Amino acid sequence: MGLTEQIDQLLMDMDILRPVAIAAMPDDQDLRARTRRMISQLESIRHSPAVPLATYTWLSSLVAQFLDAEHGALLKPAADGKLPEAAKVAIEHHADARRQLLAQALQDIPTLQMLLEQSCNRIGRKAGRDASLTERARRLDALLQEHLQQDAAFRRELQQLIAAFTPSMNAIASVVRQVGDDAPELRQAREILEQELPADAEAARALLQAARQSIQQAGTKLATASEKLNATIQQQVEKMSALSSQLQQAESEARNDPLTGLPNRRRLAEFLRQMASDAFCFLIIDIDFFKRINDTYGHDVGDEILQQLGRRLQESIRDSDLAARIGGEEFCIVYPGTSIDTGMALADKLRQSIAANSFDTQRGALTVTVSIGAAEHNASRSHSATFKAADQALYLSKRDGRNQVSIEPAAQ
Ligand code: GH3
Ligand code: MG
Ligand code: MG
Repeated sequence: MGLTEQIDQLLMDMDILRPVAIAAMPDDQDLRARTRRMISQLESIRHSPAVPLATYTWLSSLVAQFLDAEHGALLKPAADGKLPEAAKVAIEHHADARRQLLAQALQDIPTLQMLLEQSCNRIGRKAGRDASLTERARRLDALLQEHLQQDAAFRRELQQLIAAFTPSMNAIASVVRQVGDDAPELRQAREILEQELPADAEAARALLQAARQSIQQAGTKLATASEKLNATIQQQVEKMSALSSQLQQAESEARNDPLTGLPNRRRLAEFLRQMASDAFCFLIIDIDFFKRINDTYGHDVGDEILQQLGRRLQESIRDSDLAARIGGEEFCIVYPGTSIDTGMALADKLRQSIAANSFDTQRGALTVTVSIGAAEHNASRSHSATFKAADQALYLSKRDGRNQVSIEPAAQ
């Protein structure tokens, strides 16, 4: 084959290879530029009569090798992660040969430089062209190096992909385990990712695709698993809120009197313990002749009166005060930070209001009166001493005719 025919053949090869490469890597501007440069270099060689035949032959085989090696670029996935359809056939044939060619090309670089030197010496008269040929050889070297680096970068990308897969696989696995399920797909995917990645890029890609598929299957399983998990959590939440409302009820029962809903003795003790100031006015309120009401109208009517009295006491106090039922028909009120004089005034107002407003019962409107004992508490004595003092005051009210308020004997 003559010199011109060889170069023409190479240019025809380029015409075939370039569109394939560009179709495979439509966004790779570098690849476009590189193939365009190859063509223009071949054309410039065709127009140069001074280059010896051996150099042409050698250069043309090198270009052919380079073009073969160029297929390697097609192994890079497109933006969607898939290999372009147009590249697949070419890749099948070239994937393996490519690595050998690259290795060969690298080995050949020193030889190429030597041959180029010789060629340059032979055509030494044309210094400009010498420089241009050396420059081309250097560029070819750089391109091959870059290519090898791209290959390394591709393998690094694959490794990064594996690294990225691993935590999500672990997360999936832990959720699947939490619902007591097993995920053979994940084990399979992990086995694939744990093994040494094959040197062959296509085989590596196939393996990773298998791993990705396994992970997708495990992901589907995860969706089911997390539905189960959600259902379990939902059940737990329902159980817990049922428990907490039961608990709330029990708490409330433990601190409130079931008949009137007022705080009981336990809540009273708690209230006194938590009070900021240790000074308060304390009233004990006892219904007069309550036994008679029960005896005359029945226990149910008695209950109705207790309930209504409880409401009236509750309505008569401020948020900071406390009204409690401490016995059968015995109630108390705590007025924090209140003097005995004010407490006595409040107690009498209450007494009058009870006496003046009848209770609405199933046996009609009934009027009851209450007797009240008042005591002032301060830090100098115990709560129980103050209660006892109020009780003594109550006794005085009863003794002196009922429907009245008395202060503890010592304070009189
Ligand atoms: P006094 O004026 O001296 O206080 O006379 P009293 O009848 O109110 O006093 P006593 O302590 O003798 O009677 C209290 C009555 O309260 C006796 C009991 O049957 C009644 N009692 C206690 N607890 C309840 C209750 O929960 N419901 C009803 N209906 N009556 C109750
Ligand atoms: Mg009583
Ligand atoms: Mg009574």
